[in-house]
Order: sequence, then C-alpha cells, then structure tokens
Amino acid sequence: MVNWNGDIAKLSLPTSFAVGDVNVYVIKGDALTLIDTGVKTVQSKEALAYGLEELGLKLSDIEQIILTHHHPDHAGALDFFDMTVPVYGHENNQRWLTLSDEFLDTHNSFFLDFAGKMGVAEELKHKLIHDREEIKFLSKRQLQGHLAEGDELPGLPGWRVIETPGHAQSHVSFYRENDGVMIAGDHLLAKISPNPLMEPPLLMDGIRQRPLLQYNASLQKLLDFSISKVYSGHGGEIDGDKVADLIRYRFERQHNRAMQVKSMLQEKPLTGFEVCQQLFPKVYRQEVDLTLSETVGQLDYLEDLGEIVLEMDSGAIRYSSVTTVSKGIIY
Ligand SMILES: [Zn+2]
Repeated sequence: MVNWNGDIAKLSLPTSFAVGDVNVYVIKGDALTLIDTGVKTVQSKEALAYGLEELGLKLSDIEQIILTHHHPDHAGALDFFDMTVPVYGHENNQRWLTLSDEFLDTHNSFFLDFAGKMGVAEELKHKLIHDREEIKFLSKRQLQGHLAEGDELPGLPGWRVIETPGHAQSHVSFYRENDGVMIAGDHLLAKISPNPLMEPPLLMDGIRQRPLLQYNASLQKLLDFSISKVYSGHGGEIDGDKVADLIRYRFERQHNRAMQVKSMLQEKPLTGFEVCQQLFPKVYRQEVDLTLSETVGQLDYLEDLGEIVLEMDSGAIRYSSVTTVSKGIIY
C-alpha cells in the first residue's frame, strides 16, 4: 500500500538487478515531482502506474523529474515520460543520457587502458571495454537544467541540493532544512554499502577519479547536517538519530576491508586484478567491472593513507605495502 507521508510518497519498483527493488519518490510541491524513475521495463512501468493510482495519480500527472544519479535503476525509465516533462539532475548525468558515439569511444578506451594498468586477464578485458550491459537500460534525454551544490530544487521550495559524488559522478542528495528530511539516493543505504563505481574521467586530462575517496568525503559531509530521516534508493528509511552511527560503522568496515587488502600486499606485491581475484574469488569473472571498482577503491584508500606504494611492471601497476610481514612481526 502506497501512502503519503506528509507531502512525500515512496514507491518501490521491481528491477532486474541484484540489488532488488528501487525506491522512487513522489513529492507534492509547486510541481508534482518524481525523484528517480525506476528501470525501463514493462513490470516497472506497471508498478509505477499502480503505485501512482493508489495515490490518486496517473503517470501523465507527473510535472517534472529530478534524478539522484544516472544509473539505470534510477534514470532508466525516462522514456516513459513525455518529452515535455522537464528532467533535472547534476550535469554529470548528461553524458550517460546522451550516450554519444564519442562518449562510448572514450568510455571504452578508458576501460581498456584501465584494465591494462590493473593487470586484468586478457579474456576478461572485453567485459570492461564493451558497452556495458546496463547501457541498453538507459534512456536518451536532455536535462532541462543542472543541479549543483546548494541549489534550491525547481518546483520544490525549501529543498536543496547536496553534491554526493562517489557511487556515481552524477550523484546528488536532497535536503529540506525545515524538517531535516533527506533523500539520499544510493549514497546512504540502511543495509548495504554502495559500490564506488569507476567511470571514465570527466576532464580532458584523462586522469581517473578515485571514487571511494570521493564517496568517503561525501559520507563525511552528511555528518554536518541535522537529519530527521533519510529516504534511500533501496531498502527502508534511516532514522535521523541513527545516521551518524551508521556512517561511522561504514567507515570502520571499509577501513578494516582495506587493512585486509594491505595484509595481502604484505605477503607480496600484487596487481589490482590479483587483489580482486583474492577478494572476490567466486564472482570476479562474472562481475569484473563491479569487483574491480570495489578493489581499486581499497587500493586508492590505502595509497591515500600512505600504506602502500605503486610501481609500474611491464604495463601494469604493482601495489606493495610499505611494511612487510616476517614470521608475524611487522617491520
Ligand atoms: Zn546507483
């Protein structure tokens, strides 16, 4: 049953992805707004229409769409809405919503180079360089306007944009100061930690982002806000008084995970792909893009802490710990 909670209604829509249902939100403001769209499947469209009907609304009543980020479970179903419905989001969404040949070429050559530097096995490289599976779930659309840090949301007075890059370069969250409600997309989830997904560089310099470090900074940023409730992109809401503890717990887990990686590197220097194989022995083949992003995140984190050093070894980066283990003693 879908209900209004004040002026916000949450609709959970099915996806074909491992993460399960995605939450989208209807907000009654000056403009009837949909935050995120769900995936581009018939099942999702039906679930959305059904949910809206329970609220006494139709798909055609939606006056504007605002995106938390470009991923296909959040922005995929833009095609279901008339081209006259304006769409707003961070400007970094646009390259995924345009999907020009130029961008796809850049995307593929970046991932080919990245795979080489990580030492990815030849037979798996194509999984990183071919147009990603999910691209067919995206919709082509032009953003009506770009949302940036501190902007007030169009049609929703009192709601402001917080830039929260990390999980996606396009990721933003929304905060309403008068009651402390936050819509956090995939930035903060009650049960799971989002993958800091690697994306092609945003600038012409070709230097890649370090998504886990960005993600950590964006998590830290939330601690500055007085939050009463977080509505997330997947799973249940998070009470405001639990937010700080959850963020600290995420930091601790992540740090421990990185230290586990460091201990592997104390045994011997490894490439990113070798670390990935050890961290995800069962799934790295099927999900080389996701597992490699996760792995590189840990390596970037350790490098940032000064715990490991990098060395080029016949085209690939070899990571080694600044301390080594010998008979259980760390030097
Ligand atoms: Zn996402």
